[in-house]
Amino acid sequence: MQKKFPSELRYDLVSQDWVLIATGRARRPETFGAEKRQEVKTGKTCPFDALAKQECATIAYNKGKRVDFSRGKVCIPSEWTTISVANKYPAFAPSKSLRKRYVGPYPVMDGVGFHEVIITKDHKKDIPQFSLMQVKEMIDLYHARYVDLKDEDHVHYISIFKNKGLQAGASIAHPHSQLIAIPMTDPDIQRSLSGSYAYFMEHKDCIHCMMLEWDRKDKKRIVFENSLYAVVCPFASRVSFEMRIYPKGHLPYFEKTDESQREGLAEALQMALKKLSKGLNDPDYNYFLHTAPVGGGSDYGHYHWHIEILPKTSVPAGFELGTGIEISTIEPEKAAAFLRKQ
Ligand code: AMP
Ligand code: ZN
Repeated sequence: MQKKFPSELRYDLVSQDWVLIATGRARRPETFGAEKRQEVKTGKTCPFDALAKQECATIAYNKGKRVDFSRGKVCIPSEWTTISVANKYPAFAPSKSLRKRYVGPYPVMDGVGFHEVIITKDHKKDIPQFSLMQVKEMIDLYHARYVDLKDEDHVHYISIFKNKGLQAGASIAHPHSQLIAIPMTDPDIQRSLSGSYAYFMEHKDCIHCMMLEWDRKDKKRIVFENSLYAVVCPFASRVSFEMRIYPKGHLPYFEKTDESQREGLAEALQMALKKLSKGLNDPDYNYFLHTAPVGGGSDYGHYHWHIEILPKTSVPAGFELGTGIEISTIEPEKAAAFLRKQ
């Protein structure tokens, strides 16, 4: 009998969304009910302060430069400031083959992919406290690892995201972000791609460029700008103080960003998070990259990559979950004016 893969993607026939049943990370059913989420770990027990004992790096940077180390001989280079390691409890795991099958009427496939944790050295300092060089180094690592993985077999989308704080789902306090490469495009990016494509077909233009042009003229929702990026509170914000970081030029593919574009992004991301931290007393948040998928050979020239930052200012409740209509309790225009001042 074939070995059970650690996770399985199942297709919802009605919503047409894939969901992941991550059996490899599973706990016994009776532990679910009793569990109260633990406070994120700090201090001596931090696994990310003791990496040398357990993990192998996939890529590392030291003081702005990529470290040349041969995996196998050296697992964790002795000097590093930002590093990526395989997730110890992966939601997706590498495999040469991708098993697809039907269970009754449902399409199912193995959760094949890559799941890595990107860790910055200092246990206490996070992005708002970094030097600009450290933020750029983290973005360089995102980019380099993205480029490394995009041509791997079965990789169709690469998600880069950060969970900060307990409310945002983080289990570890040490500053980190994650990268997950998956064998299909996820429902959220699929919706984003479809919306952009429909507008492009009708207007022969990018919907994100159009929105950005209006925001930049209107000025009310702009939080920060440098020569290459704009940080905006979107007109239809899903949560209070939501921000998006857009390249001002039309750029579908994150992997095509050059040095100066990554430097500009480092500044925009840091400014956005500094303002959030200062204005809202260091709230928990998630951010994630939305960019064109990598696999399948399709042209996504109509897309426009960006980063979305969603502060955890409330918990989605029955109405939001049942209808998909999000409730934001402050106008994005007021949120942007407040954040601009920070
Ligand atoms: P978060 O849950 O967002 O705080 O992200 C932390 C991630 O690190 C989780 O996905 C864990 O599975 C993963 N993780 C926990 N301990 C280790 C470890 N020792 N080495 C690698 N990854 C780990
Ligand atoms: Zn730590």
